Amino acid sequence: MQKKFIVANWKLNGDIKNITIFLKNLKLNISLYLKYNTVIITPPTIYLERVYQNIKNINIFLGSQDVGINKKGAFTGETSILMLQDVGVQYVIVGHSERRLFHHESNKLIAKKFGLIKSLNLIPILCIGESESEKRQNQTKEIIKNQLNSIFEYLGKKAFLNTIIAYEPIWAIGTGLSADPIYVESIHKFIKDYVNKQSANNLEKIIVQYGGSVNSKNAKSFLKQPNIDGLLIGSASLIYEEFLKIIKISHEISCEQINYS
Ligand code: PEP
Repeated sequence: MQKKFIVANWKLNGDIKNITIFLKNLKLNISLYLKYNTVIITPPTIYLERVYQNIKNINIFLGSQDVGINKKGAFTGETSILMLQDVGVQYVIVGHSERRLFHHESNKLIAKKFGLIKSLNLIPILCIGESESEKRQNQTKEIIKNQLNSIFEYLGKKAFLNTIIAYEPIWAIGTGLSADPIYVESIHKFIKDYVNKQSANNLEKIIVQYGGSVNSKNAKSFLKQPNIDGLLIGSASLIYEEFLKIIKISHEISCEQINYS
């Protein structure tokens, strides 16, 4: 059975004290729920090494929220893919809507970062999704196609081999207004069909997770859908109890699915 990918995106939050408490609690209680879940924590860059030291022996993985486009040199303030790899990062979020919006990251730049991550055998988590006005104008599928096409144009047919796509409608991120699970399911199906077609059907599996105001109350309704392969979680991943509840829900759904199959 394909494990569900549960990703914590801590964004610009946390400090040494709270991260230490969070990880201590998580380490104590998570082992029961890792059989069917791949759990990834993406802390702010400055805490990557600290988080890694705490999770390296318990099968939780380290992710980065972004990566610089250069490997090394005179690029003040940047963090390179080599440095991320050096401190234990295995997954890198790329193209998050907050990077697209606040840092003016284009589809072209995101494709380059995506390629850079793959070239080092790390796994990119590509965020895609439409804004509220794009949804209102029925442009969701066009926007998603453009976001995916820029990756195909840069890397060719096999671009999405060993990668994760996160469908994150911008209007649902950090708003408390999560998308309708049936709507998300239909978009995930569209993404998978599109990627499959563009890849000349040579991908074994395409992983698409959902992100946008997920919490312990609505997680089940998303994870029950056949084409929702995991969750990318912002604010609810900052509260240990809430994050663990979501992981537990995901585990229980997988157990139910196994019992029924
Ligand atoms: C995100 O930042 O990717 C996200 C989904 O945030 P939130 O869960 O807070 O909406």
